[in-house]
Amino acid sequence: MSQKFLYAKHGPDDPTRPVQIGSAVFGGADVPVIAGPCSVESLEQLEEIAQTLKALGIVCMRGGAYKPRTSPYGFQGLGEPALDMLAQIRRKYDLAIITEVMTLEQIGPMHDRIDCYQVGSRNMQNFDLLKALGRQQKPVVLKRGLSATLQEFLYAAEYILAGGNPNVILCERGIRSYEPMTRNTLDLAGVAMLKELTHLPVIVDPSHATGRRSLVPACARAAVAVGADGLMLEAHPVPDQSVSDAAQAISLERLHALMGEIEPVAQAVGRNLHGEGSR
Ligand code: PEP
Ligand code: MN
Repeated sequence: MSQKFLYAKHGPDDPTRPVQIGSAVFGGADVPVIAGPCSVESLEQLEEIAQTLKALGIVCMRGGAYKPRTSPYGFQGLGEPALDMLAQIRRKYDLAIITEVMTLEQIGPMHDRIDCYQVGSRNMQNFDLLKALGRQQKPVVLKRGLSATLQEFLYAAEYILAGGNPNVILCERGIRSYEPMTRNTLDLAGVAMLKELTHLPVIVDPSHATGRRSLVPACARAAVAVGADGLMLEAHPVPDQSVSDAAQAISLERLHALMGEIEPVAQAVGRNLHGEGSR
């Protein structure tokens, strides 16, 4: 039996259907940036980052309250108190907040404090979670599973769409390969392939894709060049002191410089950087 997929483009001329997080439109003329720490650590940390984002014209902030750590002995996130901190920052700075949801029970308590749910790689095929996120309307950034094929990635998105929530943004964050020097292998061809297959916006997370802060700027530029509809970047006031993913966090100064580097790339592919670079 042939099946029509909700994620699918109807033809080569079917444009990307934009998805909005706060005032940022993903899948349109702009290339918005989502930036922030891997983990919420303190209100002071969030304040410092929020001030930088505002100065750079970045309107979406990320920060993990619940962390899916490979080791059970790694920092697991501040949990509920972190959600309160994010909500406070959201109000004070008028920033759109994106945070990872790991369980069905977290969906409700997060709902009024955030603007977008993130489904992490390790939960890309948590089908009950996907179904539940399909039953509400807030946007979902769905990260590609550690070893997921593009078809599996799209099927995961389909679970959310099939539930009635059209607001799904796909995030390529690298896949596991045989190469240990980079944390993952950034699949830029996969981004271009997804752009052919689906009307859903596709963003790239070069932080988790590389695991090394020195590689983040080059891969961010490359992602925009290949047609990504946005970027997700891990940034921290003192990257080496980050409680999680320290090696891949860029400094706030580097984030500032990177915005200027991305802008001409965005323009070269007919887009605008949403942020300081566009002024
Ligand atoms: C994260 O965004 O901090 C994260 C855990 O990402 P991923 O699910 O891509 O590993
Ligand atoms: Mn992280």
